[in-house]
Amino acid sequence: MNDYLALVSKQRLADVLRELVRIPSVNPAFSGGQGEAGVADYVKRHLRALGLDVIVLPVEPGRENVIGVLPGAGNGNLLLEAHMDTVQTDGMTVPPFAGEVRNGRLYGRGACDTKASLAAMLIAVEAMKTNGLVPPLGIHLAAVVDEEATYKGVTVLADAVAKGRFVYEGAIVGEPTQLHVIMAHKGCVRFHIDVFGVACHSSHPSGGINAIEQACEVVAFLQRHAADVYPRLAHPIVGSPTHSVTMIEGGVAPNTVPDLCRITIDRRTVPGEEAIAVWQSMKRLLEGLQDADGPLKLAVHEPFLIDHSMEVQPESALVRHMRSAVGRYAPHGRIMGAPYGSDASKLVRAGVPSLVFGPGNLAQAHTRDEWVDLDEATTAAAIIMELAMQFRPSGS
Ligand SMILES: [Zn+2]
Repeated sequence: MNDYLALVSKQRLADVLRELVRIPSVNPAFSGGQGEAGVADYVKRHLRALGLDVIVLPVEPGRENVIGVLPGAGNGNLLLEAHMDTVQTDGMTVPPFAGEVRNGRLYGRGACDTKASLAAMLIAVEAMKTNGLVPPLGIHLAAVVDEEATYKGVTVLADAVAKGRFVYEGAIVGEPTQLHVIMAHKGCVRFHIDVFGVACHSSHPSGGINAIEQACEVVAFLQRHAADVYPRLAHPIVGSPTHSVTMIEGGVAPNTVPDLCRITIDRRTVPGEEAIAVWQSMKRLLEGLQDADGPLKLAVHEPFLIDHSMEVQPESALVRHMRSAVGRYAPHGRIMGAPYGSDASKLVRAGVPSLVFGPGNLAQAHTRDEWVDLDEATTAAAIIMELAMQFRPSGS
């Protein structure tokens, strides 16, 4: 059996990662966002220099997904997917686009989230190609846009899968997981609730209805609801649903009883819950709190964001192969769940079993001194190579 770690060069990986970090790709949704075009060009050049075919999937003007194709021995494909965008650089205490290396760590915006995953995938494919290794399935390496904002990149890719343009037997979605394998994660539904009152002079509050105080009742009700209901909905891997009141807005003046208060709910869903059904049931519950003579009047708005939860069956061939690849090179790595979302849920909904995996700690993502450990990134490349060389959907 090949030692894939011996076939991936840490120096080469560090060079590619440094070049990726040196190309700013802040998501245009954030302040100073340049977009992903520079990184997309770099990935195209890298893949073409290896002699791979490159497919470009336009997403919107100036933004495209880049897919490199390494042919396999048989039919079917394994997808390696990583996003090219990063969050903003405000407040960073290290140069965001220098790619400095200190004590085995490479620093910069996106180093951890998720350019190290992208670099590990590029190096894995490069090592297979230059060593003449032909994987059983074709490998599609997809560098996509817009994960940090509205998932437009993976959405275009998942649509192409749903329409049959691409067929994937499985996918690895690169995100910082410390080489653990995420096989289930939560989803999210976010919406506003407007609570209405009647304004009046605050010297005589009983002349009105205080919308902020009514909203407090709603918040307290939701806390009781969470304590009663969420434990019963617990998923064996990702745990219970949660919700947070993440924003509150109300009042017009210090001496006026407010007639409107808006609260924003972020409800995290678990696999098995449908986001829209969760919202509908919360809407019904909340509307049911109103009674014709009572002071509470509210409106529950349609969700402004839905992101689905996902899970892959633990006994599936993809999990089995990934467990063995991680076990060989990173024995600390576990198969687990996560409370956050990723591109994987969009691929799972398109029918592609998808696992989230990559070097780096989410605790370093989006931080002032974002960094990734270069040994860990090199190990990730070896694990990806091993999976690519071993994975067969039948598990045979
Ligand atoms: Zn990420």
